[in-house]
Amino acid sequence: MSSAPLPRRLLLTPGPLSVASATRAAMLTDYGSREESFLALTGSIRSRLEALAGAGDSHVCVPIQGSGTFAVEATLGTLLRPTDMLLILANGVYGRRMAEICRRLGRPHQVMEFPETEPVSAKALDDALAASPHMTHVSVVWCETTSGILNPLDDIAHVAAARGKKLIVDAISAFGALPLDLSTLPAEAVVGSANKCLEGVPGLAFVLADKATLSAAAGNCPSLSLDLHDQWTGFTKTGQWRFTPPTHVIAALDQALITLEAEGGPAARLLRYSRNRDRLVEAMTRLGFEPLLPLSLQSPIIVSFHMPSAPDFCFSTFYHLLEKRQVVIYPGKLTQGETFRMGCIGDLDIADMERAVAMVAEVLGTMKREKIKC
Ligand SMILES: *Cc1c(COP(=O)(O)O)cnc(C)c1O
Repeated sequence: MSSAPLPRRLLLTPGPLSVASATRAAMLTDYGSREESFLALTGSIRSRLEALAGAGDSHVCVPIQGSGTFAVEATLGTLLRPTDMLLILANGVYGRRMAEICRRLGRPHQVMEFPETEPVSAKALDDALAASPHMTHVSVVWCETTSGILNPLDDIAHVAAARGKKLIVDAISAFGALPLDLSTLPAEAVVGSANKCLEGVPGLAFVLADKATLSAAAGNCPSLSLDLHDQWTGFTKTGQWRFTPPTHVIAALDQALITLEAEGGPAARLLRYSRNRDRLVEAMTRLGFEPLLPLSLQSPIIVSFHMPSAPDFCFSTFYHLLEKRQVVIYPGKLTQGETFRMGCIGDLDIADMERAVAMVAEVLGTMKREKIKC
């Protein structure tokens, strides 16, 4: 008995993502964490990430074990002192998560909430900072993956800078595709992760932090393993990781960064993702699905769709039938209204988006024909 091999799995999610086979192949070598060749890989990813962000001499890349949230927590815990006050701009789950982290760490903060379908407002930030001079820091999520909305990072950064506030950016879902240049963007720290637009595998995150700020942050962090200052001085003093590094993940990221460069850098990747998004939105709209956001606010990272209003539409069946066809989508996380999400990032091109949407059409047909409910 023989059966046809399954088609490549398409992860239309916010990460982990479908990755290129060269990236997967880079994980076939077992590195010891103290080996020269592995330390060279660590140096390579750090300098490539710094170059990608236009870090120059001002900012330094500090990688940290774990997912993106670990790096956000490390950043807030290391850069905020108990006497500081952070204003968190929130229009989704990831903004609110920063507030939860600050609450756990005992770091004074205030949340400025915006509707999940509207970008955070630079004007509202300016008014708030004028009224609250005691704020020391501002934080923002660049692309809020909850909805897929893009927030106006440049405007926010310039308002914060004009008011003398330090900015912390969650760029996790955008880093590697959206243009970022720390030589012109005034930001204290920018957080990214391996497994989103960089198309690495999960297990590693990183922070591009202002060197002077980081130097002054010794002893701030209440956590040992998430102390960004100590993680950094570990690298500068010995070139070593303080604790067991995810060696395979780092090797994969190094390859993924080489692949990004070969593709033409973030600008080329942004173009590919934008085409993926356009094709996805167009084809899903033709099938009767309605995007949550107008195209003007819609990032090329992930698209939220309203859940079909037909009373017998069952999302869990829809999800599982797609999964059986090697297409993985993502549930919604919005507090208002039922949605689901489909990602545009990862090692995917227009042909993959077309295959995914063809599977959506097939599954809808099956659900209708066989009158499948939950
Ligand atoms: C993915 C993501 C994170 C981190 O989530 P993890 O589950 O820790 O990887 C943080 N912020 C944004 C905007 C994200 O998209």
